[in-house]
Amino acid sequence: MNIQKTGFSTKLIHGGEIDDQFGSATVPIYQTSTFSFDSAEDGAKCFSGESDGYIYTRIGNPTISALEGQIALLENGFGAIAVSSGMAAATTIYLGLLSSGDHIVSTDAIYGPSRSVVEKQFVRFGFQATYINTADIEAVKNAIRPNTKMLYIETPANPTMDITNLAACAEIAHKNGILMVVDNTFCSPYLQNPLDFGADIVFHSMTKFINGHADVVAGIIIAKEDAIYAKLRNMMINMGCNMDPHQAYLVLRGIKTLSIRIDRAQENAQKVAWFLENHPKIAWIKYPGLKSHPQFQLAKQQMRGSGAMISFGLKSGFEGAKTLMNNVHLALLAVSLGGVETLIQHPASMTHSKVSVEDKNKAGITDDLIRLSVGIEDFNDIIEDLQQALEKI
Ligand SMILES: *Cc1c(COP(=O)(O)O)cnc(C)c1O
Repeated sequence: MNIQKTGFSTKLIHGGEIDDQFGSATVPIYQTSTFSFDSAEDGAKCFSGESDGYIYTRIGNPTISALEGQIALLENGFGAIAVSSGMAAATTIYLGLLSSGDHIVSTDAIYGPSRSVVEKQFVRFGFQATYINTADIEAVKNAIRPNTKMLYIETPANPTMDITNLAACAEIAHKNGILMVVDNTFCSPYLQNPLDFGADIVFHSMTKFINGHADVVAGIIIAKEDAIYAKLRNMMINMGCNMDPHQAYLVLRGIKTLSIRIDRAQENAQKVAWFLENHPKIAWIKYPGLKSHPQFQLAKQQMRGSGAMISFGLKSGFEGAKTLMNNVHLALLAVSLGGVETLIQHPASMTHSKVSVEDKNKAGITDDLIRLSVGIEDFNDIIEDLQQALEKI
């Protein structure tokens, strides 16, 4: 069977298989730090690249390779590099592809640490960055400078749910010889494949939808072409932010149900979104599956579903948000997202607390914004939980 030609869910079940002498149904955990060579000559060949045997787990490991191969397949990339966390993916991309004096253009409402690591750490190494609403294509064009080397996008953005036009951004990037990076965590490869729209690099926090069970922190980078793949792999190996084999095993287990988990979660999310949109205490709501979302049509063009993430605000603002968060019983008051359980959180004081108040306001991360990651529980229970908590306001 040619796995390349199979459907998405078949790739989830069989795309991570490796040769195993006992025919085991799942990928074994090669919990080893090092691999012995058959001879001195064999060892030398592995190091020179003449043979592709395993050497040392920071460089590569069969369990980790199985996951990398599977995700490269799901994202239509040349190759994938598994790393210890989503942030390890982001920093490997920044440090592997940028030099002192290079400029980044990026989405203002991105995952908080992806921005603060640049503004608070990498500026020391001479990185420059401009954060704008990349949903506004004119703003993207205007932000490009002669030294811009990277267009770093998150869509839907976290937590505003603004959607950036991937194809339009890829066109701008390539006209200007700039690399385009997309954080695809909110969609997972099931809902969106940025490489197909012209991106050069995609990454995921696999902590979220891909693993989906709130029991692993992990990340992965997918490159469209071999030269970029080689640069990033080299950076990962030397920085030492490799994945661990046991971590890879858990993700290989979690990913098998990615499509059915997201199908269920987004079906629930759509119902929750309709419920919230019609609730008298809600001031506004942003969900790509609602006609009221300003980019409802664009979402349909580049995403295969609306996802499970909802942002909304209450008429009673932050005070109301606190009451809501303190009174839900089913939803967990917790950061993270994309798991089987429903999570609720307040970005301004939690995930995006390190972003300055001024930049938060500019990016639309308002004090009243509540972020909901809808899980796969029975939707009646999720809605009842929100309903009774909203009554307390
Ligand atoms: C969680 C997250 C990250 C960071 O991933 P970790 O696995 O927590 O390091 C990056 N981007 C987005 C969109 C995220 O949600």
